Amino acid sequence: MKIVRRLVFMLAAFCLPSALSAQFTLPPLPYPTDALEPYIDKATMEIHHGQHHAAYVRNLNAQIGNFPELEGLSLEAVQRQISGFNSAVRNNGGGHFNHSLFWRLMAPEGQRGKPSAALESAVKSDFTSMDAMKKLFDQESLSRFGSGWVWLIVTPEKKLKICSTPNQDNPLMDIPGIERGTPILCIDVWEHAYYLKYQNRRAEYVSNWWNVVNWNEVSKLFDAAMK
Ligand code: MN
Repeated sequence: MKIVRRLVFMLAAFCLPSALSAQFTLPPLPYPTDALEPYIDKATMEIHHGQHHAAYVRNLNAQIGNFPELEGLSLEAVQRQISGFNSAVRNNGGGHFNHSLFWRLMAPEGQRGKPSAALESAVKSDFTSMDAMKKLFDQESLSRFGSGWVWLIVTPEKKLKICSTPNQDNPLMDIPGIERGTPILCIDVWEHAYYLKYQNRRAEYVSNWWNVVNWNEVSKLFDAAMK
């Protein structure tokens, strides 16, 4: 009985603060957790979305008490003025934004599409070829030390560029040293994104991940960013 009482108490303590201020919510995965098999395994997706991402959302909501102005801001607006907040908002707000985008940028077989003609031609003009772009992206993924993200962005000058950020930072953040732009593709290179299946083999994870990229969505984001 003692253990049950303790469990109930822990559950209440865990749920109540986020229930009181649930401004930010965990978006459902746009596909089943096993839809990216065999490249991204079901167990990784379950833990990554249901535990890691959920924790970023919960911890971000917990900061509304410290920063009431968070309540009126969109998730994207939070990124653009992140320098005005503390590191908990930066880490968890960034984590929420990055993962919400990441899930949309992958898709099950048959729904991945191809890069649009406009995207293909921009990639050719900025990187010479799609293969050259992917090679640079792979290199950036391998050289990001520790945890972080790699991005394909549209710069304010409407050029495509590859960059990476540490931790849960992203190219929307108003932080010195971050390459600013609109992200149209990204990969999570935290170990939690690949360790169960690939262990320490990040290169293998990244090269397999290209198989699940949702080019329909990347092309859509590219069009919107070029407007
Ligand atoms: Mn992650």
